[in-house]
Amino acid sequence: MPPIGFMFRRPHRQEVLDGRAVAKQILDDIATKVGARVAAGKPRPKLATVIVGDNPASALYVRSKQRDARQVGIDSEDHRLPTETSTEQLVELIAVLNRDESVSGILVQQPLPNQIDLVQAVIAVDPIKDVDGFHPFNAGLVAQGLPGGVQPCTPTGIIELLERGGVRIEGANAVVVGRSNIVGKPTALLLIKRNATVTICHTKTTNLAAHTREADILVAAAGRPNLISKDMVKPGAAVVDVSANRIDGGQVGDLGPGVEEVAGWLTPNPGGVGPMTRAMLVRNTYEAEIRRRP
Ligand code: NAP
Repeated sequence: MPPIGFMFRRPHRQEVLDGRAVAKQILDDIATKVGARVAAGKPRPKLATVIVGDNPASALYVRSKQRDARQVGIDSEDHRLPTETSTEQLVELIAVLNRDESVSGILVQQPLPNQIDLVQAVIAVDPIKDVDGFHPFNAGLVAQGLPGGVQPCTPTGIIELLERGGVRIEGANAVVVGRSNIVGKPTALLLIKRNATVTICHTKTTNLAAHTREADILVAAAGRPNLISKDMVKPGAAVVDVSANRIDGGQVGDLGPGVEEVAGWLTPNPGGVGPMTRAMLVRNTYEAEIRRRP
């Protein structure tokens, strides 16, 4: 027999923002579209991946991206360059892939070895094949809220999860913890485009908790386990846990224990943003093909 207080306590309602389920819907949709194109005699889209060096995590990420692509009928080809590759050699390979008619999208897996100039590598990719959406041309379109271009994978995946999960973005106070060019900043920009009022926090933010407690939508992308404790979350808020921190062979995000007791919507981690990021990459590859060869 549970205690009386337990019996009469109003159950805490929470929606799980299930990235695996939403990603599956998106991938199924693309599989249908790819199937129809191929049946009509058009070429299969193709994703070219480039890894420099032998970082096992990069190899794992790329394998799972290729698997997702294959699952929907998108071909993939894998390019491996040795750790000591120069910027010029990498840019040369990217130029070959830019010219290759059969390649729809190019993914250069990060991190790159220190001797490589990351900016040179990013701008070497033809913006139309930039399926990560990292090229300044595509990032600039997002910054200006303009259509066209390639949407960044993780930020777009976050927005899709929120929207499909029934979270109202317009008018919400959104707080993004993290200001990187690939996650924090573009996520903030996509939220602004959807009429949220956005605050971006980082390591120089004074009193992080004062900001997060005001958040109707809280996006944690700091890469710091336990950074967001239960008392930093507004009851009923939608909490998106982006980070993929590796601990004891497993993955944890930035949320501390008990956040699930107060959040109104929550992304599981793993199984939240990660599958959405990969689904967005597959969608970007398909869309890159359509834009180049309608
Ligand atoms: P990043 O480049 O290291 O950026 C981290 C950001 O968090 C920085 O802006 C940093 O502030 C801020 N930050 C760090 N500690 C903080 C603290 N104590 N308080 C407030 N802000 C703090 O990382 P990223 O590439 O954006 O990725 C963030 C996390 O998301 C990582 O764990 C990464 O593995 C994960 N991730 C997941 C996916 C996915 O698909 N699930 C995709 C991409 C990334 P400063 O700017 O002041 O240094």
